[in-house]
Amino acid sequence: MKKENPGQAENTLMATRNLIREAVERLGLPPVVYDYLKDPARFVEVSIPVEMDDGSIRLFTGYRSQHNNALGPYKGGIRFHPESDPDEVKALSMWMTLKCALIGIPFGGGKGAVVCEPRQLSMKEKERLSRGYIRALAGVLGPEIDIPAPDMYTDAQVMAWMADEYARIMQKSALGVVTGKPLLVGGSVGREEATSRGVLFAAREAVRVSGISLQNCRVAVQGAGNVGGYAALLLHEAGAKIVAISDSRAGVYNPEGLDAGAVMKHKKATGSLAGFPGAEEITNEQLLTIDCDILIPAARENQITAANAAAVKARIVVEGANGPTTPEADQILKEKGVLLVPDVLANSGGVTVSYFEWVQNNYGYYWDAETVNKCLEEKMVDAFHKIYNFTRENSGHLHMRSGAYMYAIRKIADAMQSRGWF
Ligand code: GLU
Repeated sequence: MKKENPGQAENTLMATRNLIREAVERLGLPPVVYDYLKDPARFVEVSIPVEMDDGSIRLFTGYRSQHNNALGPYKGGIRFHPESDPDEVKALSMWMTLKCALIGIPFGGGKGAVVCEPRQLSMKEKERLSRGYIRALAGVLGPEIDIPAPDMYTDAQVMAWMADEYARIMQKSALGVVTGKPLLVGGSVGREEATSRGVLFAAREAVRVSGISLQNCRVAVQGAGNVGGYAALLLHEAGAKIVAISDSRAGVYNPEGLDAGAVMKHKKATGSLAGFPGAEEITNEQLLTIDCDILIPAARENQITAANAAAVKARIVVEGANGPTTPEADQILKEKGVLLVPDVLANSGGVTVSYFEWVQNNYGYYWDAETVNKCLEEKMVDAFHKIYNFTRENSGHLHMRSGAYMYAIRKIADAMQSRGWF
């Protein structure tokens, strides 16, 4: 099997393919498994015309990547981002396939994007764009086919418009076509903070196997959006000391600990973390190498790189974001003995509660918060220890990313084998 050009390793898709290829080889699986998994089963690109508030018409590009559905319908978010491109969306859809396999939910992997600057769109323009995306792709989506959800710069409101547009096209209610919806229109309690709650459980188990206690841990969180913001709050509530938080513009640091709730209130009120009283201002880059026990990158891809990995002081890294660590940085962290809980495991709480939402939509019966959070905790704790032990038994060292890829790919390959290859 051909190794992708290492010179392009910064390219997330190439890096993901290399990890898949390595796992297939280590597992001794037939090379056709790599051929299946190196590309999505279907990739759709659409042009979405949107009437802007000034009466002009603009065309936006949308993507949907349907990677693999051996374990169930394609599942994964849609992001609104100016830098999204086909390679990124394909890689993200591959990670969804792995996530669903690891956490043990009956879904495959998909991902979508619209290339746009969401902060420059009015609410009405965003609504027309969300509905336009569904009109362009309704034929390949559906509760039993492919189920989108929120991702970067999309939220419950966007999901409500998308579910509504799909129901109009189909002339019937089909709540399970997207997850992450508002509570009143088929959403699940606990979905909004589910990714972060999963990060909390992953961090707690990582701390446990390291023989330390969350109570004594200093935590730095990169990102103050849906994942980072709630992660800081939940870890703070659980007794950890949040020493640093950053958003895309600025970061705040206090070695004595920050009141995460007060920091997030300040961000909400002023639109930024800058100027939070009683803390030192730091950059995003400084946050990654700050003195702490647990580092939670929960922002964008490619943040921990060959340039800064050696300076990372945390002994545990829990990847709240998708793809925050480059392959070179992965290697450096491994050599330093850092316990890295990979994205495909650490941030799978979001899609897990998406699954609970889909189940509730199918039954038309809704759970309480206690049930959702308990089921999520069970799945996260179980998956963490399965991967942790599998990694120790199979690759002989504490690098959970390769263990996670091997574990997931073996399961997906077994499913493809059972179903038949063609
Ligand atoms: N966008 C989230 C992720 O990357 C959630 C996907 C989902 O709920 O389907 O895992």
